[in-house]
Amino acid sequence: MNQLLAAMSTSEYDRLRPHLHPVSFRRQDALLSRGEQITDVLFPDGGVISLIATLGSGATLEVGMIGLEGALGSHVMFAERAIPWDVHVQVAGSGHTINVEVLLREAVIGGSLWEGIRRHAGRSLVQHTQLAICNHHHSIQQRCARWVLMARDRMTTDQFPVTHELLSLALGVRRPSISLAQEHLQAAGLIAYGHGTLTVIDRPGLQTAACECYSLIDGH
Ligand SMILES: [Zn+2]
Repeated sequence: MNQLLAAMSTSEYDRLRPHLHPVSFRRQDALLSRGEQITDVLFPDGGVISLIATLGSGATLEVGMIGLEGALGSHVMFAERAIPWDVHVQVAGSGHTINVEVLLREAVIGGSLWEGIRRHAGRSLVQHTQLAICNHHHSIQQRCARWVLMARDRMTTDQFPVTHELLSLALGVRRPSISLAQEHLQAAGLIAYGHGTLTVIDRPGLQTAACECYSLIDGH
């Protein structure tokens, strides 16, 4: 279950239950495009959602990742309704949405859900800035290991589907570079990859292969 929703008190849950709408999202779904207005905040129960910055040249980079620990659209707490990124689904999942107006009323009432959204928005700022540094300074292999660890934490399982196409979009490099980085991690016995499914074999080893950004972003 989504960790922000799970932290609600019974009275909050009773108040918000009529406003919780179940949704599911499929791999490669484009959930939002840059500039689109956020009308509902999505609280995933699982899956991996990728925030992608896109340049006019077509170059792309992942600047954020959201799963069951957070909420897509939490930056509405900064009174900003337009999403500044393209939002793609990396791994399919499901969750619940709550209308923005309903959530903003929670800001006045207070409570653990709004507190959770505030904390998530704060952690997201750390994630965005660290990924900007990471994408500029660290090798593709380090970034690939970091990405797998971040996705694994959000899936809470060692095996999940991954496509080279979406990894290429997220890491901003061509697919052959993704394949090479993955083959290196596989040869080192850290992961296995086949038929579109990635398996984490040696998580501590993967942490060693990843750059420092993983621990700075996800607090490990
Ligand atoms: Zn890094």
